[in-house]
Amino acid sequence: MKLTCIGASGNEVTGSKFLLTTKENKKILIDCGMYQGKGLETDAMNRDLGFVPAEIDFILLSHAHIDHSGLIPYVFKNGFKGKVFCTPATRDLCAIMLPDSGKIQEFDTKQFNKKRALQKLPPVEPVYTMQDAAACLGQFISVPYHLNFSLTPAFSFSFYNSGHILGGASIYISFSENDETKTLLYTGDVGRYNKRILPDPCVLPKADYIMCESTYGNRLHESIEDAEQELMLIVLDACAKRKGKLIIPSFAIGRTQEIVYALHRLKNGGNLPSIDIFVDSPLAVSATGIFRLHADSFNEEMQQFVLSNPDPFGFENLHYIRTIEDSKRLNTYNRPCIIISASGMMEAGRVKHHLANNIDNGRTTILSVGYCAPTTLGAKIMRGDKEVSIFGVKYKVRAHLKSIQSYSGHADYKELLHYLNSQSPETVRTFFIIHGEDEARTDFASRLAAVGFMNTVIPKFKEEFEI
Ligand SMILES: [Zn+2]
Repeated sequence: MKLTCIGASGNEVTGSKFLLTTKENKKILIDCGMYQGKGLETDAMNRDLGFVPAEIDFILLSHAHIDHSGLIPYVFKNGFKGKVFCTPATRDLCAIMLPDSGKIQEFDTKQFNKKRALQKLPPVEPVYTMQDAAACLGQFISVPYHLNFSLTPAFSFSFYNSGHILGGASIYISFSENDETKTLLYTGDVGRYNKRILPDPCVLPKADYIMCESTYGNRLHESIEDAEQELMLIVLDACAKRKGKLIIPSFAIGRTQEIVYALHRLKNGGNLPSIDIFVDSPLAVSATGIFRLHADSFNEEMQQFVLSNPDPFGFENLHYIRTIEDSKRLNTYNRPCIIISASGMMEAGRVKHHLANNIDNGRTTILSVGYCAPTTLGAKIMRGDKEVSIFGVKYKVRAHLKSIQSYSGHADYKELLHYLNSQSPETVRTFFIIHGEDEARTDFASRLAAVGFMNTVIPKFKEEFEI
């Protein structure tokens, strides 16, 4: 079988796409992610797929994040007619995330075309629209964890919980060629251990080939256990002592639910002041509904919690906001409160409005709970810029800045090595280190060598391997 590393290879973390071509010339794409975060350059990278969509027979999707799923509407629009296999929760999350991504493409292209019009250039089309995204969802087939599913007599796969986001999976593939059966483990994104909502990453059967993510192949995270205590102290300082608003910019899916659940636990323990908490992000509101549908994906602690708190994402004083009118009403809300709003990097979404309204107020606290890429508004605020531009207007930063970084969705290198404990380094034929920047990948390679994984490869963009 031939493996072609298309995206999340080279120095790229996003745009995950790996093509398997069997001896019978079946083409199976693992993940179909969008490149993100490089403006116009990203747009061109997304349109150059590196394969012909009509020739792809199947897509195996590890999880719903846009850097893994985001180009499915585009390949569908360009001739892909096969099925997309993923877990039930991934399917449900894609049903909200892909149309939302289409909406963003349409909006960004509209803005871009305004600039082109001024230069007398013709308009360009969005990579795909909200409608394209809605149309491709009929191609999805849900496959539960641990079920062995045969795509052809010689090719089967199973999903294992990767503990990364709701529905997230590592994919274990078995394929037979020339009377020999071989196995391939694609880790997908691997989550942290001892999290609050999702279970730990699953222990996987031994594989002949491994394709492993390395986002934090050179980093160690803070402990998750301390995060709730830290959150409590920040809430008390921001809302009880300073009597201001606590703004928590947060990814709509996963992070928002983790924060809401942590606040719920603090409230039950009598550790929260009596204040209103607002979740102001339509995508987060929809995603929370999907979390409620998949309680079977929660870890044991969360399942116990649900027995006495049937709605872990709902409690007194917590308000979900969907409409723009209700969101605008928060501008004149003058009591201490918590506002959780997307996006996490403060680059887009409603959180920008809340920042614009409150960032120059010394009573405001901004709490960052995730990674902010270096050029984003979030990075500028958190590194201590005294003045920032929001919607083209300059604002003095007088708000207090706080950060909790242990809520990461990705395992650090120690956790990745723990996840790989069940594998036998001596029988792994090739270990592909993917989905990481160069420094993280080379660093992770030396850590793998130290525990016996010697046959490591750092694939280049579009590099091919016979496996
Ligand atoms: Zn992910």
